[in-house]
Amino acid sequence: MGYRAFLERMGEVNDLLCAESVLSWDARTMMPSGGADTRAKQLATLTVLAREHLVADETRRLLERAEAETAKLPEDSVERTMCAQVREAIEYHLRIPAALVHRRAEVGSKGQHVWAKARAESDFASFVPVLEQTIALNQEMAEHIGYEEHPYDALMFRFEPGETVRSLQPLFAALREGLQPLVRAIGEKEPPRVDFLQRPFPVDRQLEFALKMAGKLGYDTGRGRLDLTVHPFEISFTRNDVRITTRVNDEWMPKSLFGTLHETGHALYEQYCDPAYTRTPFATDLVGLYAVGGVSFGAHESQSRLFENHVGRSREFWELNYGELHATFPEQLAGIDTETFWRAVNRVEPGLVRVESDELTYDFHIMLRVEIEAALIDGSLGVSELPEAWNAKVKEYLGLDVPNDRLGVLQDVHWSSGQIGTFCNYTIGNVMAGQLFHTATQDDLIRDGLAKADYRPLREWMTEHVHRHGRRYTRDQLLENATGKALDPQYYIEHLTRKYTDIYGV
Ligand code: ZN
Repeated sequence: MGYRAFLERMGEVNDLLCAESVLSWDARTMMPSGGADTRAKQLATLTVLAREHLVADETRRLLERAEAETAKLPEDSVERTMCAQVREAIEYHLRIPAALVHRRAEVGSKGQHVWAKARAESDFASFVPVLEQTIALNQEMAEHIGYEEHPYDALMFRFEPGETVRSLQPLFAALREGLQPLVRAIGEKEPPRVDFLQRPFPVDRQLEFALKMAGKLGYDTGRGRLDLTVHPFEISFTRNDVRITTRVNDEWMPKSLFGTLHETGHALYEQYCDPAYTRTPFATDLVGLYAVGGVSFGAHESQSRLFENHVGRSREFWELNYGELHATFPEQLAGIDTETFWRAVNRVEPGLVRVESDELTYDFHIMLRVEIEAALIDGSLGVSELPEAWNAKVKEYLGLDVPNDRLGVLQDVHWSSGQIGTFCNYTIGNVMAGQLFHTATQDDLIRDGLAKADYRPLREWMTEHVHRHGRRYTRDQLLENATGKALDPQYYIEHLTRKYTDIYGV
């Protein structure tokens, strides 16, 4: 009975975090702006309650009983893995003083206002005091969490457990070496025409088409819904209610379409988690205190990138689905053939803004952020030197001059919310997506499916190897089991090289 009571207790933690997610979805989707202040308090209260419930004496007593009861099971059994994960999460939270968590949250909520104003006015100096506090609090956090080599490793643990400054160096070096010559060669070529994507596409038809494609990829609208927001996201309250949002840009049609496919990939991870894991630690991020089933932010991102880029931006996908898109927007796409459309949605153009960057140059935005964050946290870079360091890296990696801080160091929301250490997951996701897609498409059934717009075999492969496990395995175990290899960037580099060589003839 000890294990059952322990599971029920963990179910309550999950309930609190799911309730927090519902309020968060509402805040970002439906809530009038007047509700912001009280909503922020409600969200904070639920997170605090979930943490207190997790670390409470009663939970620890139930955990001890569950551990005793399951001690004879194999170490890698579901039961013992769950117990070990909960113990690790409790120890993580107890290492960080509650007052410090509280202070960081306070600086975070204040920081967002300061940042929004600083960004609008491109005035970095006014953001400096908040950012200095944020860095200092995160440095303090890192000391409490603990690390072997670099304080930044402690901060990445919450998002990408096991990833370190040292482990990222060869990964980034391989990407630079593999992709920089390609970016340079493309820069010499004539870019594909994109003018027709900037025509007005009626919003309702955009959403209808995007949702239809999401359904084709496996998104179950009986257990989900699509809404419009300024910043697209996916959020789940158990596998049976997984919501996505997208944004519509009047002058750039691909935004809503590929935004939806991206969030669909995230949603599939949650919708196809093993039902047996509902309300358990395998469907709860007990370190980050979120109700999510994906094993790491990078693993989650692998699914969004895979369905958005490897499937949704492939020539094959549009050879099969362009007819329907064309029929939906006959005037806007008049005279535009499949090839022209496919090339347009894969245009490469090194830019200053991460969220608008293309598939090929995206990782350079990530590398520079990770390197800068690590330097801020170990103290080798001071906040006042930040714009200069940022602009130098943009020049080095993207070949661009940064005209102002709004388009430079002030562009991301992350630092203003108090968070440091989140960026590497985007690149980990890209690399994992390349590796998983390569392995999955060795299977004839999956390749045949993709060749006739039947995405079920691919989705089922991902469910079998990724989705259903929730947080059962570590990211590296999951990848080893699925592909037989540790994280390896060669598949991702090959995918990009193949695709852009084809498009640009380089
Ligand atoms: Zn994503």
